[in-house]
Amino acid sequence: MDLQTPVSQVSKSYKMFARRLEKLGIYKLEDFIFHIPFRYEDYSLISKINLVQPGEIITIKGKVEDFTNVYTRRFKTLQKAKISDDTGTIELMWFNQPYLKNVIKVGDLISVSGKIEQDKNILKIISPNYEIIFNNQTIHTGRLVPIYPETRGISSKWIRRQVFKILEEKSKTEDFFPDDFIKVNNLIGLNDALNKIHFPNNPEDARKARERLAFDELFDIQLSSLIRKKSWEKEKIKKPWQTKKFDKEIENFINKLPFELTPSQKSAFNDILKDLSFQKAMNRLLEGDVGSGKTIVGGFAAYLAFLNGFQSTFMAPTEILANQHFSTLTSILSPLGMKIEIATGSKNTSKNEFDLLIGTHALAYKKVEFSKLGLVIIDEQQRFGVEQRGTIKQKGENPHLLTMTATPIPRTVALTMYGDLDLSILTDMPKGRKAIKTWLVPPAKRNGAYEWIEKQVKDGDQVFIVCPFIEESESMVTVKAATKEFERLKKEIFPKLKLGLMHGKLKAQEKEKILKDFKDKKIDILISTPVVEVGIDVENATIMLIEEAERFGLAQLHQLRGRVGRGNKQSYCLLFTQSKNPQTLERLKSLETIYSGALLAELDLKLRGPGQIYGTNQHGVPQLKVASFSDFDLIEKTKNQAEKVMSKIDKYPKLLEKIKIINLKQISPD
Ligand code: ADP
Ligand code: MG
Repeated sequence: MDLQTPVSQVSKSYKMFARRLEKLGIYKLEDFIFHIPFRYEDYSLISKINLVQPGEIITIKGKVEDFTNVYTRRFKTLQKAKISDDTGTIELMWFNQPYLKNVIKVGDLISVSGKIEQDKNILKIISPNYEIIFNNQTIHTGRLVPIYPETRGISSKWIRRQVFKILEEKSKTEDFFPDDFIKVNNLIGLNDALNKIHFPNNPEDARKARERLAFDELFDIQLSSLIRKKSWEKEKIKKPWQTKKFDKEIENFINKLPFELTPSQKSAFNDILKDLSFQKAMNRLLEGDVGSGKTIVGGFAAYLAFLNGFQSTFMAPTEILANQHFSTLTSILSPLGMKIEIATGSKNTSKNEFDLLIGTHALAYKKVEFSKLGLVIIDEQQRFGVEQRGTIKQKGENPHLLTMTATPIPRTVALTMYGDLDLSILTDMPKGRKAIKTWLVPPAKRNGAYEWIEKQVKDGDQVFIVCPFIEESESMVTVKAATKEFERLKKEIFPKLKLGLMHGKLKAQEKEKILKDFKDKKIDILISTPVVEVGIDVENATIMLIEEAERFGLAQLHQLRGRVGRGNKQSYCLLFTQSKNPQTLERLKSLETIYSGALLAELDLKLRGPGQIYGTNQHGVPQLKVASFSDFDLIEKTKNQAEKVMSKIDKYPKLLEKIKIINLKQISPD
């Protein structure tokens, strides 16, 4: 067994956890040591019992004198223990963890960490971290204790134990940089960094470790980008088509739109016009909050392709979105003489007589023949891999590429990281769009909220209800939970209203039918799982209710609430939570006042740690675990170093090997 051993082959219990570990990006043993803590709990102050003060956060080491399970009413239990050292005795208490009796035994030498509370005259620690002292060493107490990104059933404590074992037992990780490189850049060695990031002796250790790992992370992205760029330069590619002058047609296109373009839509139009007049294929990323109006920018590009005699394809992540684009773009483009077709799982096209083919991302693998594909538009690019992108591009001869995303990537980042990518950002919202009024609803106001919703529905509004976020990808567990909630709402809360249920396990046709019913107002309230269909456009839907909002990231919540507020009516977002944690409530409350996806994403980064900002499982933007996209100095420094290394890359075989593996796995927007 070594660091490359897949977790499923380590042991039976590991095998059971394998699927959950995948969610954390852990596939093999080595991935544990690259699973980076996002903060530490400071339990480094070790105290004698007679010196502790109420309110202090400390660690105590002592002998277990007594342990009892106390049964309270309603089958709940309390665990009470007493421990002593040579200066005194202190009480410990846990709730509903009867199995502790098998872990903590009278006579054991134990280390506990937590906050000292005073109850009358007795000092105690409630729900302390604990561990039996072994080899005079502690992992979960008595030190800076790492806190990791967790997932259901996988706690920080469990991860910590695995990481500790692996670091102790398994072979070392080879450094990718030679010693002189490490010295020149004032870094610490990789092994040193990995040990210290998990188990630092002091904050300075952790800082140094972080610095080294952040350097590696950014450096790798930069070097991969350079290597990719070099390999393209070798490829001989055909010159792309260039647009002729169509001033009149463009003016006509803009005048016929059912709305006035926002200033940033106008400038995105201009960016595209410029791109299409160069001798280099367009590779533009269009970034804009949900509802900022990206679709029409794609429609404009497709119209230009058409004027120049080329076909376009527009790919959306789901059938529902593809259908929505089809109807929106048909109404705008077909009066201008364009022929638009749709190819989804349920509807296929074999004919080749279209100017614009709309479909899902699966189009990349379909046997659609294009006679003259000149433009590829990819909606929600973060869900679309580099491989698919290559495949679809091959269906034309060096077609232009326009990708769209609602993921906020800071401009500086995009430009530094991807030399070859151009960026347009839609910074303003269409006129008349009102900010979605957002309220955090405490449990006591739940029934009031339901009553208010019923009243709004009677006044003609429609509602989305999003069920709790249970697992990252939609599983039967999520579907069951949504179904249960649907039944409950139908029976107990809204028996007089028409409810619909939508989840990812429905067949495409069923989904379409439900969505159509919702659009046709045959459904008042649509209950859905969180992962389903982000971008659907139902102008009359004005209320979004999100259950267990605390389970979502801020940027995610912002995307969800973007399903409403698509028309001119005032829209509302109700965030339900049972949480009483003041930090959580504070975090959620920020949605009441902040309406920018980019700002919320940054706040997520600050509050929840890196790795959360771009959500999970999103391709296109590299996930940073340690570094931050706002660390411009380090971005600049690693860029310079990567360029230097690139000029004599043969001298860095280990590095080259690593980057090769990254490039195989990683998906990037260029
Ligand atoms: P995105 O894809 O960026 O989330 P869409 O392109 O779906 O947003 O646009 C959302 C809604 O706003 C659509 O109904 C669209 O017709 C409308 N829209 C787009 N641009 C404008 C504009 N400039 N003024 C008014 N409405 C607009
Ligand atoms: Mg969209």
